[in-house]
Amino acid sequence: MSESTITFIGGGNMAQALVGGLLAAGHPGSAIRVADPSETQRQQVSEQFGVATFADNAEAVSGARAVVLAVKPQVMAPVLESIREPLAENAVVISVAAGITLDGLARGLGESTARVRAMPNTPALYRAGITGVVASRNCREEDRALATTILEAAGRVVWINEESQMDAVTAVSGSGPAYFFAFTEHLAEAGVHAGLPPAVALELARQTAIGAGVMLAESEHEPGELRRRVTSPGGTTEAALKSFAGSKMAAMIDQAVQAALRRGRELG
Ligand code: NAD
Repeated sequence: MSESTITFIGGGNMAQALVGGLLAAGHPGSAIRVADPSETQRQQVSEQFGVATFADNAEAVSGARAVVLAVKPQVMAPVLESIREPLAENAVVISVAAGITLDGLARGLGESTARVRAMPNTPALYRAGITGVVASRNCREEDRALATTILEAAGRVVWINEESQMDAVTAVSGSGPAYFFAFTEHLAEAGVHAGLPPAVALELARQTAIGAGVMLAESEHEPGELRRRVTSPGGTTEAALKSFAGSKMAAMIDQAVQAALRRGRELG
């Protein structure tokens, strides 16, 4: 892997997941910097990862090949202001902040800066995330490759061509983990209704979700084929799936994704 210097602005959860992943993938710690105004956060990052930390964003950004903006959207404007001047001409800026557009980044940094907008999801904290990514037109192939390397430290990366699709990415994978948590929660409740002790029902539901996830990850088959393979004609699974169809589960999920999409557009 190249030794391009990567600076993280914000040293919180998302930055730490990415830094941990980069180090595990062999990126040298000497080529990683983290800037955070919080002394506690800086101390934690330097103790846990042994990378250089900075109180001053401008100093941390100087000479960096890639700058990852891992701050809350609310502080984005002053953060962009703080890095605009010292940013190297060849630097690519990667934002993981929800709702901050490529145009919004350009307003703070100037049109000529290569910009990447990424939408990770929470499993990124366990390096099992999926990140939807879109780049400004002036991003070169090597900028995209570097952004991919950095974001893959938190899981998988999917590039999209149209920024307008970012709200849909948010509605499917950004908010998606909560849909599976809700399903698992309801499955456990249904287990209690069916006569199981709550702790047993929760253990069964949770491990079933994990097991299904592992099969989705490991099997060469599409979800539909996996479903067919575990559904014997006339069996219990078929009875449950018929009940889902009767309750219009597919339409329910579609409505939920559309609701997240509408809300994302309102917020954006
Ligand atoms: P966090 O609160 O853990 O970390 C943010 C860090 O930014 C804090 O350590 C804070 O001290 C620091 N900070 C505040 N002001 C700053 C400034 N002016 N300059 C530099 N650093 C500053 O937040 P997080 O969970 O890591 O989220 C970061 C971004 O990632 C957010 O925009 C969020 O939307 C996005 N994101 C997070 C997740 C997730 O699962 N955590 C998922 C998707 C997207």
